[in-house]
This record gives sequence, C-alpha cells and structure tokens, in this order.
Amino acid sequence: MADKRKVGVLGGGQLGRMLIEAANRLNIQVNILDVAASPAKQISAHDGHITGSFKEAAAVKELAQSCDVVTVEIEHVDTQMLEEVAGSVVVEPSWKTLRIIKDKFLQKAYLKEHGVDVAESVELHGADPTAIREVGTKFGYPFMLKSKTEAYDGRGNFVVKSEEDAARAKEVLGDRPLYAERWADFRLELAVMVVKTKDGVLTFPTVETVHEDSVCKLTYAPPRNVSAEAASRAQELAKKAIATFEGKGVFGVEMFLLKDDTLLVNEIAPRPHNSGHYTIEACPISQYDAHLRAILDLPIPAASLRLREPAIMLNILGGKTPDSHAQIAKAALEYPNASVHLYGKGDARPGRKMGHITITAPTLSACEREVQPLIDLVDNQKG
Ligand code: ADP
Ligand code: MG
Repeated sequence: MADKRKVGVLGGGQLGRMLIEAANRLNIQVNILDVAASPAKQISAHDGHITGSFKEAAAVKELAQSCDVVTVEIEHVDTQMLEEVAGSVVVEPSWKTLRIIKDKFLQKAYLKEHGVDVAESVELHGADPTAIREVGTKFGYPFMLKSKTEAYDGRGNFVVKSEEDAARAKEVLGDRPLYAERWADFRLELAVMVVKTKDGVLTFPTVETVHEDSVCKLTYAPPRNVSAEAASRAQELAKKAIATFEGKGVFGVEMFLLKDDTLLVNEIAPRPHNSGHYTIEACPISQYDAHLRAILDLPIPAASLRLREPAIMLNILGGKTPDSHAQIAKAALEYPNASVHLYGKGDARPGRKMGHITITAPTLSACEREVQPLIDLVDNQKG
C-alpha cells in the first residue's frame, strides 16, 4: 500500500498486539509506547518503538513526534500531553474524549447529560464508613463502589452487600477516588463495538458477555435468549452514546439488559475491547482492522462489520500454576473450530489475561458444544 503514515499507540498490551497484527497486513508501521518487549512490540521489528510509560508526558511527546496519527489501546494515559501535541499530530479519538472516559464518574455524568441511560451514581469523598452507609440508605443493598480512575477487570470495584461491608471497603479500595453506583439487577450483559469514522457511526453485532469475578470470561455472538429487537436496540443505544464523543476509532460499549428488557450503558472503552475479540474470526473485518481504518480514514464497508458465523470467545486467564494458560491453549489446538491466541505476556498471575480462544461454527449451539470442555478446563485451572 502506498500509505506511508505511521501510527503511534499508547500502550503495548494484547490490544496493541492485535492492532499490529492488523496493521502488518497493510504494511502500516505502528510505533508502540510501552515497556521494552511488551506484547505488541514483540511482533513488530523496527526501530520506531519507544520505551517508557504512556502516563509520562515526555514519552507521550516523543511518540507523537515519531508518527502521523496517535491512538490508544488503554485510556489511563496522560491526556494533558495529548492535548498539547494535538496541534501537530492527529490524536484519535480526541484527548477530550479520553479525558472524559478515563474518569468513570465523569463518563457517567457526561452520558446522563447526553440522554444516555446509566445506573444512578453519587460521588464519594473517601471511603469513610459513615459516607458509605449513607449511600446504603439511599440506594439500598447491594450497591457498587467504584474507583473513578485506573479501574479495569474489576480491580477498582467493590460490592457493598450490607452495612457491615463499609469498613472492608476502605481496606480494599483505600484512598482511591470513589463513587457509588446503584445495583443494576440485570438479566444479562451485552456489548457492542462501535466504529466512529469521518462519516458517522457504524456498529458490529450485539454480543452477550459473561463476567466471572468482574472479569470478562465469555462472549456469545449472537447473544443467547435475546430478541432481535433488543439486540438492535442495544446497537442503537451504543451508537447514540458514541456519536456524542469527538474523534474516530473503535469504541467498546458495555451494557446491562435489565429484567424488564430496558438497557443501561455500563461503561465505554475508547478503543478495541475484549468483547470484540470475536470479530477477528467471525466478521469480514475485525475490530482491529476497523480501528486502524477509522483513524486513517480508509474505507469501511458497513457490510464488513456483519457476523459471518456464530462465535464464542473464551478468555484464558492465568491459573493455579504458572503454565495453566499454556495447557489450556495446547488443549484448544485439538478443536477443529478453535482459533487460539496467546499474548506473549511474561509471568502468569492468577486472573491475568494471557490469551483467548474463539470458536466459530454454523450455529451457536455447535459453538456451545465445542467450547464446553474448554470452559471445564478453564474452571479446573482457576487460580
Ligand atoms: P471494569 O472496568 O473492571 O470492567 P465495570 O464497571 O465494567 O468495571 O464492572 C465489572 C463488572 O461488574 C460488570 O461487567 C458487571 O458484571 C458488574 N457490575 C458493574 N457495575 C455494576 C452495577 N452497577 N450493578 C451490578 N453489577 C455491576
Ligand atoms: Mg467493564
């Protein structure tokens, strides 16, 4: 391809790695800012990478100077420096969007202001037990305490089940900036990957996500026991939410489908997302292809975001032994419809995302049959 533009990415974890897999196929150079030998850097040999932290102003500036378009694979970045460099390099999505989304409380207030339904929330100043009990009186139990910032994979969330939990919340969440959220008594969780381009918003299909211990475990495409009408409402809500933000790229929108069939947005990721991994095998173009094309203004036919075949994605987390994830991946190689992804991370801590498996088949029940022994294996290896 004649495109000589270089893309810079803040963060070099598994999302950056899969973005580079997509970029490699188009001869697009991606410069990663992260620690040396991070998962993304391992699969892209050139001298444009930068060693450092995406939270560090000087490193962000250096990355910006080395490329034409800067994007992120994580939202916990230095948006101050992104604002500064935005005059000389394209930043997608906008630093304004990243700044709103990286603070979950700000994000929710913003969504509410823009007419997008979210769970009711209230700001807290410290985790002192009296303040927490006051929230309990207002919201009832259980309710969710969440760190406003730096939260991922449930690290930053605490379920307050009763008044007695108030003291323990302080131990777990310490001095993090907090807010409380009313419990969403959902029937199931849905997610939609939205693509924001120069021309508007497009969506991938609606998927069902299953979390265990607040970490995504499985995604089902299409969702199980969800009407086509509700699935399409979820796409519309996701589009409505993302259309309000500035900038281009892929956004992951997590939603709750409540028991009365209404939807709430849980949270938004301004980047490719775990619940969109399935698109690599199940759709004509993946969320990573779409992100790259969106930020570079390359064509994205709407029909290429469709589901070619039902799919189930199963995450491989670090388990009870240092090689649990490798054993799961090896076992999955025996399955004819399984695509296995390992992320090239070093040590496997229990619960750390080490890889994933996607099964595609002509029907979702065929996927379910094939994935079940792998789910059993994952459960068996749990740390
Ligand atoms: P993270 O950034 O760790 O993904 P989330 O806010 O998405 O944090 O929470 C992780 C999971 O916890 C959600 O996917 C959902 O299963 C559960 N959860 C979060 N908020 C609520 C809520 N208000 N009510 C009930 N469950 C919730
Ligand atoms: Mg989440």
